[in-house]
Parts: sequence; C-alpha cells; structure tokens
Amino acid sequence: MTPPNLSDPLPPLREVIQAHGLRADKKFGQNFILDLNLTRRIAREAGDLTQCDVIEVGPGPGGLTRGLLMEGAAHVHVIEADERFLPALKEIQAAYPNRLSIHLGDALKITPESLTQAPYRIVSNLPYNVATPLLTGWLDAGWRDGVWAPQFLSMTLMFQKEVAQRITALAGEKHYGRLGVLAGWLSEARIAFDVDRQVFVPPPKVTSAIVDLRPRAKPLAEANAESLSKLTAAAFGQRRKMLRASLKQISSDPQALLAAAGIAETTRAEQLTIDQFCALANLWKPSA
Ligand code: SAM
Repeated sequence: MTPPNLSDPLPPLREVIQAHGLRADKKFGQNFILDLNLTRRIAREAGDLTQCDVIEVGPGPGGLTRGLLMEGAAHVHVIEADERFLPALKEIQAAYPNRLSIHLGDALKITPESLTQAPYRIVSNLPYNVATPLLTGWLDAGWRDGVWAPQFLSMTLMFQKEVAQRITALAGEKHYGRLGVLAGWLSEARIAFDVDRQVFVPPPKVTSAIVDLRPRAKPLAEANAESLSKLTAAAFGQRRKMLRASLKQISSDPQALLAAAGIAETTRAEQLTIDQFCALANLWKPSA
C-alpha cells in the first residue's frame, strides 16, 4: 500500500506550464486546474486509490495526475491526445517511479480494459467536447454478453454543471432526459461538489461539477439495453409531447403499449421513472 505524500517533489504547475510553453488549445477542450489542493480533493472523492489502478483521461500538464499520486494511487494510467504534454508527464513519471503509465491517443478509441485489469477507478477532468460519449461508452462497456458486469469500481468525473445535472436528474426534474435514465439505471450518480470557473486556466464559460458514479450490482430494473435506448430516444426526442404521440415513431400502437404498462397515454417523457421506462422497453416489440 502506498501512503499519501504530504507534498510532491515537482515544481508548481504554473512553472511547469511556462517551462514547456503549454498554452491551452481550445480544439482539445483544454482548461487546466493548477491548484493541487483541489485536485487532491477530487482524488479523495474517488475513495481508496491504493488497491486498484486508476484511469485518467486528459492529464494535460498533470495537476490531477499529481493529486491522484499524492493521495496514494497505486498506479495511474493516463490517456492524453495532445503530445505536447508528454515531457511534463514524463517528469511526473520520474518523480513517482513505477506508478504512472502514459498512453498517447484518443480516449474514445482506447478502452480502460485494454490498459489494465478490472476492477479500476476512473478519475478525470474530462475534455468537454467528448465528455458525454466517454461516459456513455464506459457505462455501455459494463455489459458482457447481455449481462451487467461492470469493470469499474467508481467514476469521479468533472463535467460542465449542466451536464452533471443531466446525469443525476430524476423523473420530473428539469434536467431529466436520456442521460439521466442511462446513468440512473446502471449506477448511483450524485454531484459531489461544484467547481468555480475561476479555478481553471483559462476559465471556461460555465461552472463545472464533479460527478461521482458507483455501478449498481444489478440495473435498477430489468430491460434490454438496446430497447431502452431506442425508447428513450423516441420519448425524449419530442419531450414536450405526450407519449402517445412521441412513441408513434417506434410503435404502430403506442396507446396499447402504454396501457399494457399501466401508464397514462397523456404522460410526457420527463415524468416517466426509470422503472416505467424499463417496463415499456420490456413490452415493446420493434414492430408492435
Ligand atoms: N487534467 C488536466 C487538468 O485537470 O488540469 C487537464 C484537463 S482538460 C479539461 C482536458 C484534457 O483532455 C486536455 O489535456 C486535452 O488535451 C485532453 N483531451 C482532449 N480530447 C481528448 C481525447 N479525445 N482523448 C484523450 N485526451 C483528450
């Protein structure tokens, strides 16, 4: 077990950025956190890091990477798309021998399973332009031959606040939608804390938030993932309409389908609980 370090042996991040000429590039969604107290707080939110590998997407100059290592992470695998950060990351690797692996590439194409054995934790300050597909991809990867067998122990991820609210929203709440159904179906998701835009360099336009997701042992209710996905796409694609209208896209008789599930045909998607969506998915046949 690796005890937490009280300080790390590397220069302040501001100096690292200056020394390597690391200007933030919008194309890669780069907003850096330079405050190691904050990155350590994010690392602590993930739980015990000493017993399993940690995957971090988008380390950039390494603020969160250093936070994870200082908090005792046994081994961190970072996936970074921008090669300009490699020299700074190699300095961290040298300061924490055998505890950091650096993977250059697109995190949408490099799966955690290809880097390490389960179970692992994912902790990241995500690039906002690919944050949602990364999350849905990691959740979807929990399925093995139709059986829910999640490989992650936890995901502790920074999103734009509005996306964080969508991930954690419940039926009837303003931000409830497809993302909330998927995340709530497969995990227990909560907003751990908000992060002010001013802590980033450069500051993004909006507030951010850390979301903590723990996989459910079993999905909230039984359903076929593909049917549920098609159903929520149709229902939330026209979220202001009643389900008897929005489900016409995927069902020739939405009224009968809703009646069979015991759901009033005047209900709107945003009022339907995850359990009710699953009940509908179980009754829905693509041609019915
Ligand atoms: N972790 C750093 C921090 O907290 O200061 C940087 C976070 S910054 C919001 C996002 C990082 O993700 C950048 O370093 C960016 O280059 C990287 N990135 C962007 N798209 C990526 C992708 N598709 N795969 C891997 N990394 C990516």
